[in-house]
Parts: sequence; structure tokens; C-alpha cells
Amino acid sequence: MSKEDRVVFIRFHARGGQGGVTAAQLAVESFDGPGRAQPKFGAERMGSPTAAYAAMSKNPKLVQLQTEIYTPEIVGVLDDSLLKELDVTEGMPPGGTLIVNTEMSFDQIKKFIKRNDINIGIIDATSLSIKLLGREITNTAILGAIAKASDVFTIDGVKNALFKVFSKNIAEKNVQLVQEAYDTVEFMKTDIKLDLEKGVKKEWSHVKPELLGYKDLDTGAIWYIPGGSEKVKTGEWGPYIIKHDIEKCINCQRCFLTCPDLSIIREKQSDGTWKVVGVDKKHCKSCRNCVEVCPKGALTAELKKTGVEA
Ligand code: SF4
Ligand code: SF4
Repeated sequence: MSKEDRVVFIRFHARGGQGGVTAAQLAVESFDGPGRAQPKFGAERMGSPTAAYAAMSKNPKLVQLQTEIYTPEIVGVLDDSLLKELDVTEGMPPGGTLIVNTEMSFDQIKKFIKRNDINIGIIDATSLSIKLLGREITNTAILGAIAKASDVFTIDGVKNALFKVFSKNIAEKNVQLVQEAYDTVEFMKTDIKLDLEKGVKKEWSHVKPELLGYKDLDTGAIWYIPGGSEKVKTGEWGPYIIKHDIEKCINCQRCFLTCPDLSIIREKQSDGTWKVVGVDKKHCKSCRNCVEVCPKGALTAELKKTGVEA
């Protein structure tokens, strides 16, 4: 692969409100060439796990796709509590680099990160940001650590990016944070060389071969991927309980096709058709799209007793 055709993918894991998306934007601005930054598709709530992506290449044609990134060679984790909830190394090629904001030692980190074929960097970005900014904003520090770990962008590139994205006042405060992160990040390195070919081949590894093919699915159906959003109990976040009145329901399927979280429950009938029978409370996140599209008022939203008005 020529230098021109290389694409560097970075994935950031954070909690809503911690600045993961801004980290991706700053990464692209730090790179000497074109790139794109985007959040993971879907809703973001304060405190919920989120992801954001940065793709950078000297060849602008290679960074035009608006897809999620499944094979990041670099992963930045802004909150180490996520290590218990997610496999943050998923899709990383051998020789990739993981940077974690943490007070943990390498030994402690290894309890969560089972891979021995990647480089791991640790940086106590939380303490650094509190010391230098007076606030827990760790995204810029992670970029300083990435600049040390790889050649994707330089520390000066990151500093310049701060002035493009932030006001002068905020950028100036972050310059020192980025530098200290660059100076103090520690690494546990692997001997294994970065193997991007392996990563590239895994691009579609999220599609399990045993899943039905598109020709086997109903028109308008969506692939249901075990281990994906099913694991995230988004129902706990929402302020509403969505109720389905089967007597009013005419089984038009509009709610099923509208629901972003596959939370409309359907049952297969003996004649092979599907019938809407209820709402999956564990995963319904109260967006109320289904309530709006239902032509018969068969879906209603009731405020949970402990919830707050959206
Ligand atoms: S409110 Fe309706 S559309 Fe929204 S997540 Fe819940 S079931 Fe799906
Ligand atoms: S949109 Fe309303 S009527 Fe149509 S299937 Fe859903 S609940 Fe039933």
C-alpha cells in the first residue's frame, strides 16, 4: 500500500458529554491532509457509552464514506470504566495502539484487555486536565498521547488544531495539557508489527456468517446482530413507558419500520406473516417515533414515575 493510499482509522470511546466527538474532529484537524470525523450513529445521552470515528488519508477519495469504522489501528478511551462494559479493542489489527485515560497500572489494565498483539498506552488525563484546566476534559490529552504513539499527526499538528476548533482562550489552556500528555504517556509495546491487511479483511466481521442473507429477510427488515445494541439496555434511559393496545392495532408495521432500536416486538404467525404484539421495554429508549407514526393510536407514551419530562 502506498503512503498516498493509506487510511488511518481512529476510534474514540467515551461517555456522552466527555468530548469523544470533539476528539475525532480534533484528530482530523491535526492530520496533514483530508479526513472525516463522525459520531457513531444513534442517540447520545449524557453518561451513556458513545463512540466517534476519525478517518484520515492523503487521498481524499478514501475518506468520503460515511460508515462506522470497524478496524481502527488506533483507539482512544476517554473513560476507563468503559473497559468493563465494552471490548474497546474490537476490530483492531495486530500492532494497533490503544490509549486509555486511566490511573490503572498495565497489570490492572491487562485484566480487561485480553490482547497481547497491540500496543497499550496509559495516561492519567483526568488528573492532568483537572490540574491544568480545572475541569475533567480529557479529549485533548488523549490526542497528545496519540501524537506520541504514532506518526498519524504530530504534537504541533494537535496544537494547531486546538486553535482551529476552540476559541483562543480555550486553545491556549489546552496546549499545555496536550504537551504534558505527550511527555508523560507510558507504553507497553508489542513486538508485533502493524498488520493493516488483517484489519482491512475484518471490515465486515460484524456481520455474522450465520445470519440470514438479505434475500431471506422481510422487505424493510433489519439485520439483528447478537451482541450489538441488544446488550445495551437503552430502556433504562428513557423517561416513558410505551404501551401497545393490541385491540386498536391494525398490524400496519409502521412502528416496526420506524423504531430505531428494534424495540417493537413481532411474532411470526402460522401463515408466515409477522404480527406486532408489543414493545421491548428493555431497549425502547422513549423516542416516541412509533407513537407518532401509529395511525390508530395503538401506541401511547406514559411518563415513568421516576422519569422527567423530555
Ligand atoms: S419509543 Fe417506540 S420507536 Fe422509540 S425506541 Fe421505543 S418502541 Fe422504538
Ligand atoms: S403503527 Fe400502530 S397500528 Fe401499525 S402496527 Fe404499529 S401499533 Fe399497530
